[in-house]
Amino acid sequence: MDYQLPSLEELRENSFVVRLPLRVMFRGVVQREALLIQGPAGWGEFSPFLEYGPAEASRWLAAGIESAYQPYPETTIERIPVNATLPAVTTEQVSRVLGQYDAPHTIKIKVAESGQILQDDIARVAETRRLYPDAKLRVDANAGWTLDQAVPALARLSEYGLEYAEQPVPGIADLARLRERLAARGVELKIAADESVRKHTDPVEVARMGAADLMVIKTQPLGGIAEALRIVEQAGLDAVVSSALDTSIGLGQAAALAASLPELKYACGLSTGTLFKDDVTEQPLIAHGGYLDVRRPAVSRAKIRHYSVEPDSFTWWMQRLEQSYAHLSTRPQADSSFAGS
Ligand SMILES: [Mg+2]
Repeated sequence: MDYQLPSLEELRENSFVVRLPLRVMFRGVVQREALLIQGPAGWGEFSPFLEYGPAEASRWLAAGIESAYQPYPETTIERIPVNATLPAVTTEQVSRVLGQYDAPHTIKIKVAESGQILQDDIARVAETRRLYPDAKLRVDANAGWTLDQAVPALARLSEYGLEYAEQPVPGIADLARLRERLAARGVELKIAADESVRKHTDPVEVARMGAADLMVIKTQPLGGIAEALRIVEQAGLDAVVSSALDTSIGLGQAAALAASLPELKYACGLSTGTLFKDDVTEQPLIAHGGYLDVRRPAVSRAKIRHYSVEPDSFTWWMQRLEQSYAHLSTRPQADSSFAGS
């Protein structure tokens, strides 16, 4: 990072840990824990998933510290487009689920769900196209297909006019092979890397291998806005900004990243605020009419108190903060030069 790290003591003194209720089950739980840091520039979020170790979590901490200690990049963009998401529901459920969004301009459709077959995906995509003839449609397989399954599936689904297909197969090497096979069959469809972009060195590898046309980026795993912008520049690929099921604090940082991209070509995956039953602000970052405001939400002290975790859990998070911080403060200053290796 380009600035002095605050001391661990200062971070500890200004940290709050909350557990927010979700409307849906996510990673097997119906709540989301987050450590929030209050700093001179505003609030920052540090919410690596519970199973992440200190090395990986330290990226998330870098993002939280950046948000609390650095102003967001200046922008004239007041709102950014976001996509609606259609889970792997049956054809009959499509209109009801998407009816919850007002006039979606971009819809992400989940495909390759385990226990389903290609015909289910085709029916879901066809029904969505029938209901929304002018919307941009993208599919997300969450790495659910093998290479041999993905090629015919995407050849078929692309007939409905797709903006791109997100992570059809696992792994950077197979993504590259998939693009070659689709091209050989004359299928024109952009491929996005999502699960293959987790470590901050992945984007450059994706670009080097020709594994994707664009990549899904998240502020916390990549270490903050400045680092994400640097990675996008080095990879030379278009980016779609998405959330890691952040609270409104993390969503605000993600929206600021999206507004700072050299070009915002794709609607962002940032309408996840609706998955929370409640948030740490009175004005959560929830999309309206397919757009999300670019702003720092004002944090509510009352909500932080209300959703504070019990002492044991707080202690666990403080240890996590300490371990991640140690990793951060001893890490060589290699962030800005990793692409050279
Ligand atoms: Mg995805």
